[in-house]
Amino acid sequence: MKGTTAHKTTCCYCGVGCGVVVQKTRDGHISVEGDPDHPSSKGMLCSKGRNLHYTVMDTTDRLLYPQMRRNRQAPLQRVTWDTALERAAAVFKTFIEKYGPDSVGFYASGQCLTEEYYVVNKLIKGFIGSNNLDTNSRLCMSSAVVGYKMALGEDSVPCSYEDIELADCFLIAGSNPAWNHPIVFRRMEAHKAANPRVKFIVVDPRRTDTARMADLHLQIKPGTDVVLLNAIAKGLISRGYIDEHFIKNHTEGFDTYRLQVSERDMREAAKICGISLHDIHQAVEYIGKSKGFISMWAMGFNQSVIGVNKNLALLNLHLITGHIGKAGSGPFSLTGQPNAMGGREVGGLSNLLPAHRNLADPAHRQEVADFWGVPALNPKPGLTATEMFEALKDGRMKAIWIMCTNPLVSLPNAHLIEEALKAAKFVVVQDVSNRSDTVAYADLVLPAAAWGEKTGTMTNSERRVSYLSQFNEPVGEALPDSEIIVKFAHKMGFGHAFNYRNASEIYDEHVRLTKGTNVDISGLSHQRLRTQGTLQWPVPTMESNGTPRLFADHQFYTPSHKAQIKTIPDGNQSEPLSDDFPLVLTTGRIRDQWHTMTKTGRVNKLNQHIPKAFLEINPADAHERGIKEGDIVTIQNPRGQVQVPARITEDIRQGVVFLPMHWGKIIQSTAARANNITSDLVDPYSKEPDFKYAAVEVKKFKKI
Ligand code: SF4
Repeated sequence: MKGTTAHKTTCCYCGVGCGVVVQKTRDGHISVEGDPDHPSSKGMLCSKGRNLHYTVMDTTDRLLYPQMRRNRQAPLQRVTWDTALERAAAVFKTFIEKYGPDSVGFYASGQCLTEEYYVVNKLIKGFIGSNNLDTNSRLCMSSAVVGYKMALGEDSVPCSYEDIELADCFLIAGSNPAWNHPIVFRRMEAHKAANPRVKFIVVDPRRTDTARMADLHLQIKPGTDVVLLNAIAKGLISRGYIDEHFIKNHTEGFDTYRLQVSERDMREAAKICGISLHDIHQAVEYIGKSKGFISMWAMGFNQSVIGVNKNLALLNLHLITGHIGKAGSGPFSLTGQPNAMGGREVGGLSNLLPAHRNLADPAHRQEVADFWGVPALNPKPGLTATEMFEALKDGRMKAIWIMCTNPLVSLPNAHLIEEALKAAKFVVVQDVSNRSDTVAYADLVLPAAAWGEKTGTMTNSERRVSYLSQFNEPVGEALPDSEIIVKFAHKMGFGHAFNYRNASEIYDEHVRLTKGTNVDISGLSHQRLRTQGTLQWPVPTMESNGTPRLFADHQFYTPSHKAQIKTIPDGNQSEPLSDDFPLVLTTGRIRDQWHTMTKTGRVNKLNQHIPKAFLEINPADAHERGIKEGDIVTIQNPRGQVQVPARITEDIRQGVVFLPMHWGKIIQSTAARANNITSDLVDPYSKEPDFKYAAVEVKKFKKI
């Protein structure tokens, strides 16, 4: 259209990473549509993506300039960027000098761009000398990361979305892609509609929209996933549905595993899981007879005190059937956030270094130190997401810098997080909008540029790197997150190592550091991504067109090059239920909202889907407690309370209740915040919290 400019970019919400074309008129009007050339989304966008332009055009809640408090009791007051960053540098330097580098830390987000992750990781690990950088990806994917590393030797998702159309059996476990990864699900639905032999098996205590599409819904008791998967493995082995050649030549650990899974009686397994034996046998038949078998999972698996075990149990099904590294087959973890994968590429977790190097490996530390031009890196692992807030609360950490995330609503056991933020000596919040509850606890608020106001890259669930273009100027005095961190690095006295003119130069440095690693993207640059479109890593040369599928040669990243079939305990380690707290609370997401609603909560169209928080409860549990549809109920345990209306539904199994995790004080009220009562137990390996299992009781509060 005349007078309109088109900008190709990428949706900033979920890990599907859909391509977006933004049309901008001369008078600044913005509209969005799906990018038909984007291989992940092929022109489709879900409700959140289709409404992206509203979040761009409505600037009413945006943070426009830096603000600072003179002391904790004083109000936030506008200051210049220089004043803000000089104060931050002075405070950080004082704490580092007095208490050491581990007294400070950064808590970032899977919504940060790769370049933003890279500079903050370099600053704290290379120059401040601490590994206290963790992100909300810890709440999302860390159990999958550990599972992949233990079984395959590397944090590597083998599949591509193009495998969807080549598979004939899907095991979707702890995931509701119909709502949370809608465009992936649309591809699956279309494939199933065109090929009736395609089977969906859904494992979920709730009958979600995904489960409604299933040929087989295994509505298990929460926490029994490993028992179920081991029982399916036993069935596959006993009926000869395994690939003995693959097991013999490309795996290790099968004999011990076979012994373990054979010991559990199938009938007993069915009872533990709360489903029928027939249904387990049916799952065995569907998987065993499939030519292409894909498993998909997300937070229902990862956000668990046994998240790593669940991942390993699922990976084992692929390793015993040989369904990995070939077209239409493989384990396919779905990342919740748009750049959880990119964050891991740059080493943006407290135990990682760039390009998936391990902090624990002295050779890896030296490689990175040499590259950054520093003598050595601190070998001590940094604090993870929940550990950082514990350390703030008990005074081991003094200052935290929070980037692009709202921990007061999103972390478990919110009252503890509140106490930690109050106890912290210095809190910096760098964000786009003042709809984050965490801003209230900030000593320093820094306005960040939003989607469309900056350039950079993200990597989606299928290892596909996409470019995000700028089509708007940042509002007010907002700056891109990478620029804020670079300016701060200069104020800290590290300017010599942070001389970048733009995000493209940061990306080039990140790319150089990946050379020769399993995540080699030496063939990528902003220029190439902008002109040639998206590519899946590894992309080791300019001539390479990327790698749609890993392990096609069945050579894994372990020392023996064989995948590891792990024998794992099948019990749950969540907090026990009791007479006082007999129900399992599980939390999750709704279709039209994103995380803590700081963006999607501003869009009227999206708010119409489900306007308020609610509790899902089974009719039998509601009847036992005298609860009727719409009654306000109190959901409680020793950590706190939530008060929301009840939705009585057969869709949730008896003994389990569900709360959506989006609402907090600013959007609705503190009483609607699900994390008032979630458990802060974490998986011992991944340190991912147990959001999907807390012991609670529900009582009628008052009738509407
Ligand atoms: Fe955005 Fe995810 Fe929806 Fe695609 S599926 S439009 S990436 S929210």
